[in-house]
Amino acid sequence: MAANDAKVALELQPGSAEARLQLGTARYLLEEYDKALSEFKAGLAIYPEHKRLREGLREVEEVLAGSPFGSAAKAGTKRAASGEGREVTWDDDLECTLCMEMLFEPVTSPCGHTFCQDCFARAMDHHNRCPMCRVVLHVGRKLPVTVALRSILLRNFPEQYEARRSEMEKSQRIEDDGPVPLFVMSLVLPGERIALNIFEPRYRLMIRRCMDGNRIFAMGEAVPAGVRPEACQVEIIECQSLPDGRYGIEVVVKRRLRISRTWDQDGYRVAQPEYFGDVPVEPGTPA
Ligand SMILES: [Zn+2]
Ligand SMILES: [Zn+2]
Repeated sequence: MAANDAKVALELQPGSAEARLQLGTARYLLEEYDKALSEFKAGLAIYPEHKRLREGLREVEEVLAGSPFGSAAKAGTKRAASGEGREVTWDDDLECTLCMEMLFEPVTSPCGHTFCQDCFARAMDHHNRCPMCRVVLHVGRKLPVTVALRSILLRNFPEQYEARRSEMEKSQRIEDDGPVPLFVMSLVLPGERIALNIFEPRYRLMIRRCMDGNRIFAMGEAVPAGVRPEACQVEIIECQSLPDGRYGIEVVVKRRLRISRTWDQDGYRVAQPEYFGDVPVEPGTPA
């Protein structure tokens, strides 16, 4: 039986990626998906870049997620009509390993791996390691877009690229209209970059929640009556959590807003914003 053969291989060379792959594949074919999953994961723990182990893991995960067509459904999404009416597919090389979609606003890490800009930024919030090869990276979370690659994507898959763009913008808009945490300090202006030392427990909680979400909050000025209604939306561009629980953060002020109401949430203020229609400052643009 295939599973037994692979087990022999594993005993011979316990650290071998090939053995994990064979055993995982055998489990998969036997429809023992949970066992297949742990084999692929064990292999990837030692060989994070192993392509066939990654593919194997993806297939098992798809089955476990209840996708009725498994990998066939995935392949189907890659097909797209080109200008001449024939079908074209994008290669795995043009797929983001984090979201498993075609790359959108691709960025390249110093180790040479490519991801969507937003996917990479979110991965950097958790570890400063490349999600692909695990090498430690000393870069900001928002890398500049690899322009040549974006042009290739736009030229070859214009419809898919635009579809991804409107998808991203839609989710961005939903996030943008909701209430935001409010940090009361002093008057700030769009385009400014500000370094903040966050030590009060309630604001540490606020920053932790921001970092798990879209990294957006509002900064307003303290006035005798409370807080001035004219405030600004800011985005955290750097966040260092210090051993004593404090945060050293850097924010860029994105745009003005008017606070329509505020309320208390776990000790800090939350504001319902109304935006003035300014074009938001993008963190990548020089101040
Ligand atoms: Zn992605
Ligand atoms: Zn890498």
